Amino acid sequence: MEIIETIEEVQKRREELRLSGQTISLIPTMGFFHEGHLELMRVGKRHSDKSIISIFVNPLQFGLNEDYGEYPRDMDGDLSKAREVGVDIVFMPSPEEIYPNGFQTNVTVEKLTKHLCGLSRPGHFDGVTTVIAKFFNIIRPHLAIFGQKDYQQLTVISRMVEDLNLDIQIIGVPIVREADGLAMSSRNNYLSHEQRKSALTLKESLDMANEMFSHGEKSAAKIKKAVEKLILSHPLTKIDYINICHPVTLDEIESVDGESILALAVKIGKTRLIDNCLIGRAE
Ligand code: AMP
Repeated sequence: MEIIETIEEVQKRREELRLSGQTISLIPTMGFFHEGHLELMRVGKRHSDKSIISIFVNPLQFGLNEDYGEYPRDMDGDLSKAREVGVDIVFMPSPEEIYPNGFQTNVTVEKLTKHLCGLSRPGHFDGVTTVIAKFFNIIRPHLAIFGQKDYQQLTVISRMVEDLNLDIQIIGVPIVREADGLAMSSRNNYLSHEQRKSALTLKESLDMANEMFSHGEKSAAKIKKAVEKLILSHPLTKIDYINICHPVTLDEIESVDGESILALAVKIGKTRLIDNCLIGRAE
């Protein structure tokens, strides 16, 4: 596995790969790998000749009061996991390499970012689209793999790719969960034993919502109310949002008449967790 830290070197490698006719997949990550990340890497390997992962905790996508400084890091563990999966190249630049002095350009996806996490994390998606646009330009992958765990991120990036005519196929990978249902996340590491138990309420409430829908409930307001009640019945929980929205526009919907996304963001203590599921799939 090659480990590359500079833009110049990774550009040289991708050019060699492209000239020799090889397809490249990119899996952007912030490291501290769990099975969710590894699954994205496996999908990348299956769909391309050479898989490149990036490990970069992107300062631009963290708010002032967010956890940039504490974000968990484990470079040695990450490299051995990536090696085990068979990743070809790891690109792990420093913040200065990506944002040199004088850097001042942002990529903004206007409407999709005015929903869900975009409301409680102002500037977050500009940070995401800017860094991903840079990585797409630096690495010029044929395809890029993202998790459905960050559903809004996946829709925002797909929109950016379409709007800017980037010649990159975007692949979304279903959420990978712990045996008890908790969506895997590097931030699960922050949870105490007691908080970890309360965190199960996210998946429980998604399941309950689907159960309500399968028993004929279509009112988004009623489903959201029941989800709220269930989440708040657990200790240490604070709801950021519960939303049922259109899968492409992310506009809030009132009645679950077709495929919709139920998306949640809940704080457990200081840790903000997100989860989502499809609701209203036509049987
Ligand atoms: P992160 O390192 O948190 O920025 O995540 C890197 C990529 O892994 C993103 O595309 C995430 O959506 C994806 N990812 C994170 N957790 C999961 C999960 N539990 N299942 C599937 N994909 C995930």
